[in-house]
This record gives sequence, structure tokens and C-alpha cells, in this order.
Amino acid sequence: MGMWKGLDCISRDNLGQIQGIRLRETVKYAYENVPFYRHKMGEAGIVPEDIATLEDIIKLPFTTKEDMRSNYPYGMFAASMEEIIRLHASTGTTGRPVVMGYTRRDLENWSEQVARICMMAGVKTSDIVQISFGYGLFTGGFGLHYGLEKLGATVVPFSSGNTERQLTLMRDFQTNVLVSTPSFALYMAEVAETLGLEPAGYGLRLGLFGGEPCSDLMRQEIEKKWGMKATLNYGLTEIVGPGVSGECECRSGMHICEDHFFPEIIDPESGQKLPPGEEGEIVFTSLTKEGVPVLRYRTRDITALLPEECPCGRTTQRMDYITGRTDDMLIVRGVNVFPSQVEEILGQVKEVSPHYRLVVHREKDYIKDMEVHVELTPEGFTDSFPEIQKIEDKITSRLKTVLSLNLKVRLMEPKSLERSTGKAQRIVENEEAVAE
Ligand code: ADP
Ligand code: ZN
Repeated sequence: MGMWKGLDCISRDNLGQIQGIRLRETVKYAYENVPFYRHKMGEAGIVPEDIATLEDIIKLPFTTKEDMRSNYPYGMFAASMEEIIRLHASTGTTGRPVVMGYTRRDLENWSEQVARICMMAGVKTSDIVQISFGYGLFTGGFGLHYGLEKLGATVVPFSSGNTERQLTLMRDFQTNVLVSTPSFALYMAEVAETLGLEPAGYGLRLGLFGGEPCSDLMRQEIEKKWGMKATLNYGLTEIVGPGVSGECECRSGMHICEDHFFPEIIDPESGQKLPPGEEGEIVFTSLTKEGVPVLRYRTRDITALLPEECPCGRTTQRMDYITGRTDDMLIVRGVNVFPSQVEEILGQVKEVSPHYRLVVHREKDYIKDMEVHVELTPEGFTDSFPEIQKIEDKITSRLKTVLSLNLKVRLMEPKSLERSTGKAQRIVENEEAVAE
């Protein structure tokens, strides 16, 4: 186990050397084995030898989700089916899914990456860990599973759904660590309460949450209800799944497994590389993957790299929390809005909970209007109309100050919005507008 912390603590110089060697290998390997990359590099007028240092990476063309989709299912694979031993796929809600293939060494590396982020989060070998991520094509369940086994914790592979049974077994098995999406952790707490049980009585001490954004408000709510410490981690199918980065005990950004994934931040519009500290789209290049190597993959996730050293002693760079996905960005009457901005504002209003929806009214491709539906907390609940009006006005005026948009706010009864056992859906299309 010490070895994994060791990997996160090597000197920046050594790390840079390792990354340089691995980058050259990966570029050559992708060029020789994936016609897509050979073609793309040909178009850009470069050959693998042009990428001699880490700085040269900017010469490489980007890879997009569209590229992965149009090469469905196996066009991006560098290894043969002889060598591939596992497939996973992204949810594919907006078109063809993206398929990932893993060689034996890829799976070993992935387990190591996940073990590292679990260790950073504070999981111990004596912990009993319930995995409530779906097991299946989704990378969450199996990703955490093998990483936690590698670390040596006791794994309860529950998978998603079946909330009441999850709670029963959590109590019976004396589970003390939970792995899930943040929205499912909140939902489970609510189900426990409906059953007349106190979530804090379950004895969870630690949570590892990922797969979707988790605002400060959500995190506080989870911690308060369960009486646990909530940590966040990040990953995506196109790169590997979970295990790309995770929080250490300092909980100020997520350390990237930089010896496996080389990060860059770019301006999503111009594609220009941005200096450390600036916010933009995070781009990753895999440094050790055999099944599906990825060169400069545009994640669509918006964040920044944090240049300061972390007090924990790890030398790997941290990325900040994801403030949005470029594909989640809504343009409402010409104004760019990320759901996370609305969520942050809601987080400052004590009468409302982290359960909200953005109801979008479209006219053709154009968003004419958007309503914010948010639940009152049980404590904030009131049926006095003037009280409701007052809270709605407060939120409307804060939204206006921050976004320069006048949005209608509708307060909902506690527990009236649909809950998710996986990733929460924040944006919904207005039914009437669709029917028109
Ligand atoms: P998708 O959600 O696109 O179907 P994945 O299941 O691979 O595919 O999910 C990866 C995406 O989930 C990331 O690109 C990111 O937008 C989101 N995500 C994962 N972890 C986090 C996190 N800790 N915070 C915010 N967003 C996250
Ligand atoms: Zn740290």
C-alpha cells in the first residue's frame, strides 16, 4: 500500500521524465495501431517523432466524443480481441455509446489507479465498503470493485437500485464506507427516514462519491444526514472510468493519477492551451493504455488545474471540482448558464434543499425561457403564500444578480421531485413546449 502513496509523491522531475517516456510510447503505439490516429496525424502533418517532449503535445490534434462515436464499436482499439479481456461502454443517452476495451494490463493499471484514489480518500483495509454504483457496462461498479479489492478492503458488491434492501444489508453487514453517486446517497438517506430510521445510526464513516457533480450544499447535506465524511472522485469512460482523480484528506481538489493520464486545460472555443490555475475544458492523454489509447481527449468537463502544492505531501497535480460540462451549458436568451451556477445560488438559500430541476422551454433550438424548480427543506416548508413568495423572490433576485437573467422560480414540496439511483437529471424539457 505504501507503494501507491509513493507513486503520488515522486518528485516532479521524475514524474515529468516518466510522462515524457510514456507519451512518446503512446503516440507511437497509437499511430502504428489505430488508423484513425495515423490519419489524423497525417492531416496535421506530423509523425510520432515530432512529439519528443511533453511540451510537444500541443502539436497533436484533439480527439472528441464524436470521433469515438463515429468509430463505434471498435475503430479506436489498438489491441486485438486476443488481448482485450473486458468491454465497458458509456451510457450513450445522446447517441451511439462509446465502447472501451481493456487488456489485462489495462485492468491491472485501472485497479491500481482506483486503489490509489480510495486510499487517498481514507479507505482502510479493515473497512466494509458497499458499492452502490451499477455493475454492468457502466464503468462505476466494476471500476471501484477491483480497486477496492486491490487495496484490501472488504467489498460488498451491491450494485444500484433496491434501496430498502441496500439499507438492510448496510446495517446487517456493518458497512462503514459507501460508494455511489452523491444523489443516490441523499436518496438513500431519505428512504431510511421514511422507514423511520436515522441515517446517522447506520455507522457510515466515509463516502466516496463520483459520476456527477456534487455541490457544497449536497456534500454538507450528505455529511449531516449520514454523519459521515464525504469525498469526491472523478473519472470518465473514455479515459478509463473512475480512478482518473480523487480527493486526499485535504479535500481541496482532486489529485490526478498523472503517471497514467496527462492533463491539459484548454479554452473550449479556441482550443488554445491555458496556463495552470485558469479554468477551461480538461483534456487527457492516456500514458499507459493498451486497449484504447487516447490522445488529447476533450472531456467537455470544465475545471482548472491547481498549481499550488498540496499540504498532504503528494506531488501529483490536483484538478478543481467540475463546474460544468460544455454539453450541459444552456444558452437562455443569449446568456450562458451552467446548472452548477444555479445550484451554487440555491446553496446559499437555507430554506431550499439540493433537489432541483431546470425546466427548459424551447422554441426550435432556442431556449426561450427556463424555470427553476427547487424543493423546500422539511424545516423550510410552509404553505403560507406570502412566505413562499418571499423565498421565490429572494432566489429570483440572486439569480438575476449572478446570471443577469430573470428566471421564474417555483418552490416544490419536500420529496416531490423524482429521485435517482444513479446520476441525477437536472435539465428537463418542458412537456408543453415539446407538444407544441
Ligand atoms: P456519461 O455521463 O457521459 O454517460 P460516464 O459515465 O463516463 O459518461 O461519466 C463521466 C462524466 O461524469 C464525466 O465526464 C463528468 O462530466 C461526470 N463526472 C464524473 N465524476 C465527476 C465528479 N466527481 N464531479 C463532477 N462530474 C463528474
Ligand atoms: Zn493532497
